[in-house]
Amino acid sequence: MNLILFGPPGAGKGTQARYLVEKLNSFQVSTGDMLRNEIQNNTEIGKSIINDMNDGKFVNDEIVNKLIDKAISDPLKKNKLIFDGYPRSIKQAQNLDLLLSNSNQKINFIFFLNVNKETIIKRIEKRKVLENRTDDDLDIILKRYDKYMETTNPVLDFYSKNPNFYEIDGSLKIEQITAKIEGFLNV
Ligand code: AMP
Repeated sequence: MNLILFGPPGAGKGTQARYLVEKLNSFQVSTGDMLRNEIQNNTEIGKSIINDMNDGKFVNDEIVNKLIDKAISDPLKKNKLIFDGYPRSIKQAQNLDLLLSNSNQKINFIFFLNVNKETIIKRIEKRKVLENRTDDDLDIILKRYDKYMETTNPVLDFYSKNPNFYEIDGSLKIEQITAKIEGFLNV
């Protein structure tokens, strides 16, 4: 079973993904984490994306798609993928469909964690203290939110017709969101 955790920055996608990985014996596919790793390891990719990431801009599709392709084509991860932070545009959603169908896979569940802007700002300001992410400064958070509304939110049109699309109130407590997801997954 492959699933997508969808929602604005600060919706709790990563938190739920990390839990579900253990519970379902799956693999988290977080493009944000993969890109941060590249920066931490000071790779060529890392050096080429650091400015965009710190600035809250999207990293270019070619780089992100390569990372996604690697995860999807890994036989160990087949049908055990939990996407978090991808897709972030209609184009990425189409690319994901194509890569999955090429490897005889599909998305089985889409969970949209819906949270309003005020809650996001409060949460990310807390995360800034805990994780010290350079893209969690208030001005960058606002930029990332606007980019989400402009480019990522329209992806909902792409998925909301899917019978396994579920919208969840992302302002609920972590355990409450987890319980809802588990209820839909029937696990
Ligand atoms: P995240 O950890 O998902 O909040 O992502 C952190 C940052 O990584 C984003 O603000 C973008 O700069 C970059 N990023 C992560 N996922 C993607 C993606 N699917 N497409 C483009 N850029 C991405």
